[in-house]
Amino acid sequence: MKFQKNKSLKHNNTFGIDVRADKYVEIYDEEELKNLLSLSELLDEPKLILGGGSNILFTQDYNGIVIKISIPGIKVIFEDEKTCLVKAGAGVIWNDLVLFAVEKNLGGIENLISIPGTVGAAPVQNIGAYGEELQNIFHSLKGIFIDDVKEAVFDKEECKFSYRDSIFKRELREKFIITYVILQLNKNPQPVFNYGTVRTELEKSHKENYSIKDVSDTIAKIRDEKLPDLKSIGNAGSFFKNPEIDKDQFLEIKKEHPDIPGFTTPHDKVKIPAGWLIEKCGWKGKRINNVGVHEKQALVIVNYGNANGSDILSLACEIKISVIKIFGIELTEEVNIY
Ligand code: FAD
Ligand code: NAP
Repeated sequence: MKFQKNKSLKHNNTFGIDVRADKYVEIYDEEELKNLLSLSELLDEPKLILGGGSNILFTQDYNGIVIKISIPGIKVIFEDEKTCLVKAGAGVIWNDLVLFAVEKNLGGIENLISIPGTVGAAPVQNIGAYGEELQNIFHSLKGIFIDDVKEAVFDKEECKFSYRDSIFKRELREKFIITYVILQLNKNPQPVFNYGTVRTELEKSHKENYSIKDVSDTIAKIRDEKLPDLKSIGNAGSFFKNPEIDKDQFLEIKKEHPDIPGFTTPHDKVKIPAGWLIEKCGWKGKRINNVGVHEKQALVIVNYGNANGSDILSLACEIKISVIKIFGIELTEEVNIY
């Protein structure tokens, strides 16, 4: 176990914010993690669990220990005629797991291609995109409680998944470290491509049926064209969640803004694309010194170079105020702020 002191986290977060951690350690297996959590000198230290840093905004130096989870390995652990259980280490790059499954024609995960980050962080916000969510293919996960170093397994219900949310983002935030995730994939894939842009792109190929590879390739292409390239512009994807409001409120807003898009949720609320609200407030493509709102997707706040966390938070705050003023809707952050 190798500790680094006063470590810069600039290359450990996709916003590229240059803060420092008092201590930093990278963990490659469960035993190593248990040993670390049992060290008496670290018992009272604040602990931050880090994957790829693609859903984090650092606003200050971290006065504690950053535990970077790099547990590797992808393995098929069970299969029958219909399904296949795939177990992956929390440190596996999420997209590598998607490519592994698509290559084996195991369905259910293909719409989640090109999402940055690690397998261990995927359940934390129940990652989702293009009409699919992790919970639809989730079987169970394993991990370790930070306080008493006890192992635990969580099934789907115990994870309390909801829209970009789970027990790990709430009650168990900074209390439980996910070490392995097991997914239940479909050996007879049924691609889902109702999502407008995906269907339109696929139809251009004039095929009668689409494989999961067709779907994942199409989504990867759409994402490449629409999202900023992480290698050149710092960002953490969607900064805010899409708000879900009551139908009555939606109809009221619609009187003044007839073009407002809305999607009815299973709980009879209406989900409004936050990017649309932000764009309507005039933010799309705007730049203030080192920070800005992405020109192709207003939900993405970008760091053009040397911004710090406060610069990004100030812009986010201004955006929130204008959305409240114009639409009476309060946006909530999707990104984890530290
Ligand atoms: P981190 O940013 O490192 O961590 C996120 C949170 O999870 C932190 O609170 C951290 O403490 C906790 N955490 C990390 N690992 C563990 C672990 N092993 N155990 C317990 N807690 C842990 N998200 C979507 O849902 N859909 C998208 O389509 C999507 N697109 C994106 C596009 C871009 C360009 C970017 C930059 C981000 C996007 N995201 C998207 C957000 C992000 O990629 C996901 O939330 C991803 O799962 C974060 O993984 P990570 O390893 O980088 O997590
Ligand atoms: P988009 O196609 O411009 O659509 C805007 C929003 O409207 C989406 O966020 C989506 O909500 C909602 N939406 C659109 N069509 C829908 C449908 N048929 N049914 C239900 N909801 C619909 O979105 P985008 O920004 O390019 O992103 C495309 C997908 O990738 C979305 O699912 C988005 O969540 C995901 N993505 C997420 C992040 C992130 O950081 N979280 C970053 C980039 C992309 P949903 O978000 O609920 O799907």
